[in-house]
Amino acid sequence: SKITIAIDGFSSTGKSTVAKQIAKHLGYVYVDSGAMYRAVTYYAMQNGLIGDNDFNKEALIYQLPKINISFKFNESLGFAEVYLNDENIEKQIRTLEVSNFVSQVATVSEVREQLVKQQQKMGQDKGVVMDGRDIGTVVFPNAELKIFMTASAETRAKRRYNELIERDDDVAYKDVLKNVQNRDYIDSNREDSPLIKADDAIEIDNSDLSLDEQFEKVLQLVRM
Ligand code: C5P
Repeated sequence: SKITIAIDGFSSTGKSTVAKQIAKHLGYVYVDSGAMYRAVTYYAMQNGLIGDNDFNKEALIYQLPKINISFKFNESLGFAEVYLNDENIEKQIRTLEVSNFVSQVATVSEVREQLVKQQQKMGQDKGVVMDGRDIGTVVFPNAELKIFMTASAETRAKRRYNELIERDDDVAYKDVLKNVQNRDYIDSNREDSPLIKADDAIEIDNSDLSLDEQFEKVLQLVRM
């Protein structure tokens, strides 16, 4: 019978790549919870709630009911893309600009509450692979399989840098590294649902693992 798979870890550990492969292999639904926090951040940026260095938290909380996030499966891509109020924003949420603000938005308890509720609904029928920071601890504390992915900050920054360069984003490696370290810090130190490994999560350090090796390792755990 179908299970719930929670994959947590720091930024750019390659959680989503493995999660997508596993979901496809098992015929499960893949949910990118980070995309939801990114979508809220994108909304805040588009609506003038985030300026150079100020963030109008109160206004964002007030406008939360207006933020409708959904996923639609894209056949040719093979995964679900994220929509904000019916606009496809899959590309817009992956910029370094959104990455630089998202962890701050993710500290807002009201934002987390709304997104966690929606995530729990999406997982209520099992057969879900969800990745994020608090999936095994808060969203699905009873998940049958919990994985905690780690890799060095440099390894992760290099991966993220290559992805951004591939999309023609004009970024410097040192800025990407700074972003990864900064998000690690904010995610680990926020008051509400900080990023921690669940007691019953299995840790995988993938610094020296190929994608195939990671996939095999997770699949092995699913079969146990
Ligand atoms: O996974 P991704 O790097 O796209 O997530 C972006 C940010 O969203 C994270 O750095 C974190 O601040 C926040 N996030 C979160 N809880 C989750 C998923 C993401 O706080 N479950």
